[in-house]
Amino acid sequence: MSSPQGRPRDVIPPQLLKGQKALVTGANSGIGRATAVALGKAGADVVVNYVTGAEEAEAVAEEIRSHGVRAAAYEADVSDEGQVVTMTNRMIEEFGTVDILVANAGLQRDAPLTEMTLAQWREVIDVNLTGQFLCAREVTKEFLRRGVVPEVSRAAGKIICMSSVHQIIPWAGHVNYAASKGGVQMMMGTLAQELAPKKIRVNAIAPGAIRTPINRDAWNTPEARAELQRLIPYERIGEPEDIAYAAVGLASDLFDYVVGATLFVDGGMTLFPGFATGG
Ligand code: NAD
Repeated sequence: MSSPQGRPRDVIPPQLLKGQKALVTGANSGIGRATAVALGKAGADVVVNYVTGAEEAEAVAEEIRSHGVRAAAYEADVSDEGQVVTMTNRMIEEFGTVDILVANAGLQRDAPLTEMTLAQWREVIDVNLTGQFLCAREVTKEFLRRGVVPEVSRAAGKIICMSSVHQIIPWAGHVNYAASKGGVQMMMGTLAQELAPKKIRVNAIAPGAIRTPINRDAWNTPEARAELQRLIPYERIGEPEDIAYAAVGLASDLFDYVVGATLFVDGGMTLFPGFATGG
């Protein structure tokens, strides 16, 4: 989907997150990669989590370091409790603390209901929902231990859950994925309510159609792009930076009063575009 608007311009204030430590899961690809780089450009030190693809993860860390901040690539499967605990403790030991979690890691295992195996159902729930729960739980222990450091941020910690427009739009053939994101919606709201008195802000981003490897089939042919564009009032597919910039904003004190919100970054996909000419 070509767009006269082109790719997003780089407009990140370089000191916005100065002195903060960010953990981004699934950060060697797509949205996670762009978000990790953007947080680094905004002045944060960044841990680039990955489960496969060590070389890509190291390249992301290298790119982040070129902006004058610290970065390191840590391997961990977010659905494995022990590995998440080890990763978080290592970050606290090596970086001093953690201020920002972007719980981004996710995957799809698509099938019609009658062909979907229990393994496919479980893998998606384990990574997309349980993985976010485990990472949120571990960083929150550190947020509570440290409390607010006013020179660093008005909040004791910020958690950003990567959801999807499919937290509200049902999606035939993807029941495991849609259920996982619906779960993220309620997990995020519940954690936001539970942790707000502790000055921990929990929010979510719900991307629409973003050009990444997870949905290549939806944008890599002209027919697929035309089909997709019918669903997007803004008439362009999203770029990973569209999500990354939203994450930088939500993580920053500019958004300090935003608690328990889902920010839809979707070019209007959730505006019922089918009703633009009818109804
Ligand atoms: P992607 O496939 O490029 O990235 C997903 C990342 O998650 C990869 O780095 C992958 O290795 C990692 N990952 C998978 N399982 C993991 C595990 N067990 N432990 C640690 N990391 C793991 O796809 P993306 O589009 O960048 O997706 C990022 C997030 O955005 C996902 O949560 C996805 O559901 C969400 N999202 C994407 C879109 C889109 O259009 N691309 C739309 C809505 C939501």
